[in-house]
Amino acid sequence: MHVVLLGPPGAGKGTQAKLIEREWHVPHISTGDLLRAAVAERTALGMKAKAFMDRGELVPDDVVVRLLEGRIQAIDCRTGFLLDGFPRTVPQADVLDAMLSSQRRHIDHVISLEVDREELVRRLSGRRMCSACGNICHITLDPPAAPGVCDHCGGRLVQRADDNEDTVRARLRVYEEATAPLHDYYRARGLLRCVDGSGTVEQVLARVHLALDGRR
Ligand code: AMP
Repeated sequence: MHVVLLGPPGAGKGTQAKLIEREWHVPHISTGDLLRAAVAERTALGMKAKAFMDRGELVPDDVVVRLLEGRIQAIDCRTGFLLDGFPRTVPQADVLDAMLSSQRRHIDHVISLEVDREELVRRLSGRRMCSACGNICHITLDPPAAPGVCDHCGGRLVQRADDNEDTVRARLRVYEEATAPLHDYYRARGLLRCVDGSGTVEQVLARVHLALDGRR
């Protein structure tokens, strides 16, 4: 099963992807996570990406595509994957299509999580990430038991550099300009399912199930 998750930053793609990964045993691949790991490891690709990420802009395609290509060739992606954060532009979608068809594979489903803009700003600016295990929480919507401490591993919770309000608004603008056209791209191929991303994690997961059900 090859699934693309679309939706603006803060729509809950990562949260839903982790749950689907666990239930359906398909690896969750987030290009944002791949890029953050490359930045943390100070690789050449990471160094090229960092300034773009800090400004909330898209990283050049050659960098993202090289990271993604390496990842989807891994053995755990043999029977499928769940892509989160890629493609983000129509040219990236074309690259993905070409990459998959050269391996006689194709995208099976595209799920777009839809959330109101002010709700996205609220979600993102209160979001915190564990610096040790990457777990995500929210200071008011899903507060940790002890402030600043990850409930899962006891690691230190930090705010992502690009989750401050100005950068969040820049990222949402980029989404509307560059990524929203992917709706038409995938709708024309009969693959797009729009899912209401508001409400609790469980409510959204139930809707994602409905959108995917019977089409595994
Ligand atoms: P995310 O974790 O998906 O919100 O991504 C964080 C940042 O990584 C984005 O704001 C971009 O700067 C960069 N990024 C992630 N995926 C892509 C992509 N497919 N194309 C270009 N830049 C990306």
